[in-house]
Amino acid sequence: MLQLASYPRIRLGHFPTPLEFMPNLTRHLGGPNLYVKRDDCTGLATGGNKTRKLEFLVADAIAQGADTLITQGAVQSNHARQTIAAAARVGMKCKILLEQRVPNETEDYKQSGNVMLDLLMGGKIVARLPSGTDMQQSMETLATELRNSGSKPYVIPGGGSTPVGALGYVACAQELLAQSFETGIRIDHVVHATGSAGTQAGLVVGLRASNSGIPVYGVSVRAPKQKQEENVWKLVQSTMDYMGLPISSIERADVVANSDYVGDGYGIPTDSMIEAVRLNAELEALLLDPVYSGKGMAGLIDLVRKGHFKKGENVVFIHTGGSVGLFGYRTVFK
Ligand SMILES: *Cc1c(COP(=O)(O)O)cnc(C)c1O
Repeated sequence: MLQLASYPRIRLGHFPTPLEFMPNLTRHLGGPNLYVKRDDCTGLATGGNKTRKLEFLVADAIAQGADTLITQGAVQSNHARQTIAAAARVGMKCKILLEQRVPNETEDYKQSGNVMLDLLMGGKIVARLPSGTDMQQSMETLATELRNSGSKPYVIPGGGSTPVGALGYVACAQELLAQSFETGIRIDHVVHATGSAGTQAGLVVGLRASNSGIPVYGVSVRAPKQKQEENVWKLVQSTMDYMGLPISSIERADVVANSDYVGDGYGIPTDSMIEAVRLNAELEALLLDPVYSGKGMAGLIDLVRKGHFKKGENVVFIHTGGSVGLFGYRTVFK
């Protein structure tokens, strides 16, 4: 096991998150046994995967004496919502830059779901910038302004995907292995939606460094396969480096992403996403989201139908959260 207690961490979430069997979806699809790791239940203002990363990121910010968190995301960003929640919990200020990345002009999209919770928790949405803006640069500019006026900002890149943030998913890998041992459920595959790469990088590092032999399959929600794998691979290497682990113990081939389920782009609904969200709601009362876990599950369902997994194998879908985003996409599900 890796000793994660040596990294600064604050408690923000409810852990361990449950590992549950999905009997109805398993029966419906007639393939491998499907399980879900409920990281939608991390507990921080409706939860999600960013909570695990923020436990390490916010601890790092506090260690550096910061008083303000800055981050960015799409308008319906789950990361922005969880960062605002984390800031509220530790008594820091929080400034958010939103990118109008998704062509969706409905009032629901612009005001409901995550945006409503952002405002409710007192997060300051500083600007809504046009699609294609260099968001990292915009955050740096804001940080400089704040520094000049005497504040101490801490900039969290989109999705919190730094080596520090990825530690959250190294921890998740260890948690999952402990649950597998406890319950006697041998895990053959892990599948999840991959975006800014921190979730997948952390899982790959954690599952590989513990010699579990469990492959991780990322379903991309934005970048093409090659680009997504490169982004994850880079973060795998920098996370290993940060943890002082030998990079030679991990291979480029350990990073696998599939971009067949993105559709027309980030945050743009696809028929397979709508089917996946409906099917999981009706069969398992499991609420996915339109941008990430819905497309991730669409990938899993299609792979099961194509016979990618063997019958009798145990496949764990990491539910990375985001269901409040459904309210922003209400008209898509009418
Ligand atoms: C951010 C997010 C992801 C993707 O995780 P990354 O670490 O950015 O790859 C998946 N699902 C949901 C609901 C998210 O908010």
